[in-house]
Amino acid sequence: MQSYQLFIKLNQSVEIQIGKLGLFNFLKGTYIYTGSAKKNIDARITRHLSKDKKLHWHIDYLLTNDQSKVINVIKSELSECDLNADAKGKVIAEGFGSSDCRKNCRSHLKYINHQFPNPFSASPQRAFFSAKESSTKLIPRWRQSSSI
Ligand SMILES: [Zn+2]
Repeated sequence: MQSYQLFIKLNQSVEIQIGKLGLFNFLKGTYIYTGSAKKNIDARITRHLSKDKKLHWHIDYLLTNDQSKVINVIKSELSECDLNADAKGKVIAEGFGSSDCRKNCRSHLKYINHQFPNPFSASPQRAFFSAKESSTKLIPRWRQSSSI
Protein backbone atom coordinates (compact mmCIF):
# COMPACT_ATOMS: atom_id res chain seq x y z
CA MET A 1 0.00 0.00 0.00
CA GLN A 2 1.35 3.36 -0.98
CA SER A 3 -0.12 6.71 -0.21
CA TYR A 4 -0.05 9.99 -2.01
CA GLN A 5 -1.09 13.57 -1.65
CA LEU A 6 -2.44 15.86 -4.28
CA PHE A 7 -2.02 19.60 -3.91
CA ILE A 8 -5.03 21.13 -5.56
CA LYS A 9 -5.52 24.74 -6.46
CA LEU A 10 -9.00 26.15 -6.76
CA ASN A 11 -9.01 29.36 -8.80
CA GLN A 12 -12.22 30.68 -7.30
CA SER A 13 -14.69 29.72 -4.61
CA VAL A 14 -17.26 27.26 -5.94
CA GLU A 15 -20.11 25.14 -4.69
CA ILE A 16 -19.63 21.54 -5.69
CA GLN A 17 -21.91 18.58 -5.15
CA ILE A 18 -19.66 15.78 -3.88
CA GLY A 19 -21.68 12.73 -4.84
CA LYS A 20 -23.89 11.59 -2.00
CA LEU A 21 -21.78 13.37 0.60
CA GLY A 22 -23.46 16.67 -0.09
CA LEU A 23 -23.07 20.16 -1.48
CA PHE A 24 -20.11 22.13 -0.17
CA ASN A 25 -18.78 25.61 -0.65
CA PHE A 26 -15.10 25.23 -1.46
CA LEU A 27 -13.12 28.35 -0.82
CA LYS A 28 -10.67 29.60 -3.38
CA GLY A 29 -7.15 28.47 -2.52
CA THR A 30 -5.07 25.37 -2.02
CA TYR A 31 -6.10 21.97 -0.73
CA ILE A 32 -4.34 18.74 0.10
CA TYR A 33 -6.05 15.48 -0.67
CA THR A 34 -4.58 12.28 0.78
CA GLY A 35 -5.26 8.89 -0.76
CA SER A 36 -3.72 5.49 -1.22
CA ALA A 37 -3.59 2.68 -3.74
CA LYS A 38 -3.01 -1.00 -3.11
CA LYS A 39 -1.21 -1.30 -6.40
CA ASN A 40 -0.26 0.83 -9.34
CA ILE A 41 -0.19 4.15 -7.58
CA ASP A 42 1.13 5.85 -10.70
CA ALA A 43 -1.96 4.84 -12.65
CA ARG A 44 -4.12 6.18 -9.84
CA ILE A 45 -2.34 9.50 -9.87
CA THR A 46 -2.55 9.71 -13.65
CA ARG A 47 -6.28 9.12 -13.33
CA HIS A 48 -6.55 11.99 -10.86
CA LEU A 49 -4.80 14.28 -13.32
CA SER A 50 -7.35 13.52 -16.02
CA LYS A 51 -10.48 15.65 -16.27
CA ASP A 52 -12.27 13.13 -18.43
CA LYS A 53 -13.47 10.21 -16.32
CA LYS A 54 -16.41 8.57 -14.69
CA LEU A 55 -17.02 10.05 -11.25
CA HIS A 56 -16.32 7.45 -8.62
CA TRP A 57 -14.49 8.86 -5.59
CA HIS A 58 -15.30 12.06 -3.73
CA ILE A 59 -12.12 13.60 -5.07
CA ASP A 60 -13.31 13.08 -8.67
CA TYR A 61 -16.07 15.63 -8.13
CA LEU A 62 -13.55 18.25 -7.05
CA LEU A 63 -10.91 17.46 -9.65
CA THR A 64 -13.28 17.50 -12.61
CA ASN A 65 -14.47 20.99 -11.70
CA ASP A 66 -13.24 23.59 -14.19
CA GLN A 67 -11.76 25.72 -11.43
CA SER A 68 -9.52 23.05 -9.93
CA LYS A 69 -6.04 22.03 -10.90
CA VAL A 70 -3.51 19.64 -9.40
CA ILE A 71 -0.32 21.62 -8.81
CA ASN A 72 1.78 19.09 -6.93
CA VAL A 73 1.85 15.39 -6.13
CA ILE A 74 3.71 13.64 -3.34
CA LYS A 75 4.17 9.92 -2.88
CA SER A 76 4.83 8.43 0.51
CA GLU A 77 5.22 5.15 2.29
CA LEU A 78 3.43 6.39 5.37
CA SER A 79 -0.08 5.08 5.81
CA GLU A 80 -2.74 7.18 4.22
CA CYS A 81 -4.20 8.27 7.54
CA ASP A 82 -0.82 9.13 9.10
CA LEU A 83 0.06 11.18 6.06
CA ASN A 84 -3.30 12.87 6.26
CA ALA A 85 -2.75 13.69 9.91
CA ASP A 86 0.53 15.39 8.99
CA ALA A 87 -1.23 17.87 6.79
CA LYS A 88 -2.56 20.60 9.01
CA GLY A 89 -5.48 22.40 7.52
CA LYS A 90 -9.13 23.19 7.72
CA VAL A 91 -11.80 20.60 7.01
CA ILE A 92 -14.30 21.93 4.47
CA ALA A 93 -16.20 18.72 3.71
CA GLU A 94 -16.68 16.37 6.64
CA GLY A 95 -16.21 12.73 5.55
CA PHE A 96 -14.49 13.58 2.26
CA GLY A 97 -12.47 10.55 1.16
CA SER A 98 -12.47 9.15 4.68
CA SER A 99 -15.45 6.81 4.61
CA ASP A 100 -13.31 3.76 5.31
CA CYS A 101 -10.72 5.24 7.62
CA ARG A 102 -9.84 3.26 10.68
CA LYS A 103 -8.37 6.28 12.38
CA ASN A 104 -11.44 8.48 12.48
CA CYS A 105 -10.06 11.05 10.09
CA ARG A 106 -12.65 13.75 9.69
CA SER A 107 -11.66 14.27 6.10
CA HIS A 108 -8.89 13.40 3.69
CA LEU A 109 -9.22 16.80 2.11
CA LYS A 110 -7.77 19.80 3.89
CA TYR A 111 -7.77 23.44 3.06
CA ILE A 112 -4.24 24.68 3.60
CA ASN A 113 -4.23 27.95 1.75
CA HIS A 114 -2.92 29.97 4.64
CA GLN A 115 0.09 27.68 5.03
CA PHE A 116 1.07 26.93 1.47
CA PRO A 117 3.68 26.18 0.22
CA ASN A 118 5.11 24.48 3.28
CA PRO A 119 2.45 22.95 5.53
CA PHE A 120 4.73 20.15 6.65
CA SER A 121 7.57 19.67 8.98
CA ALA A 122 10.63 18.62 7.03
CA SER A 123 10.56 15.00 5.99
CA PRO A 124 13.15 13.30 3.78
CA GLN A 125 10.57 10.77 2.62
CA ARG A 126 8.75 13.25 0.52
CA ALA A 127 9.55 14.44 -2.93
CA PHE A 128 7.75 17.23 -4.70
CA PHE A 129 7.24 17.80 -8.35
CA SER A 130 5.07 19.98 -10.47
CA ALA A 131 2.22 18.39 -12.33
CA LYS A 132 1.40 20.93 -14.97
CA GLU A 133 -2.06 20.59 -16.46
CA SER A 134 -2.88 16.97 -17.00
CA SER A 135 0.18 15.92 -18.95
CA THR A 136 1.38 12.55 -17.76
CA LYS A 137 4.78 13.22 -19.30
CA LEU A 138 5.62 15.34 -16.31
CA ILE A 139 5.23 12.55 -13.80
CA PRO A 140 8.76 11.82 -12.65
CA ARG A 141 10.34 8.60 -11.66
CA TRP A 142 9.54 8.52 -8.00
CA ARG A 143 11.73 6.93 -5.44
CA GLN A 144 11.53 3.20 -5.77
CA SER A 145 9.52 1.73 -2.97
CA SER A 146 11.06 -1.01 -0.94
CA SER A 147 7.78 -2.02 0.61
CA ILE A 148 5.96 -3.39 -2.42
ZN1 LIG B 1 -7.93 8.44 7.29
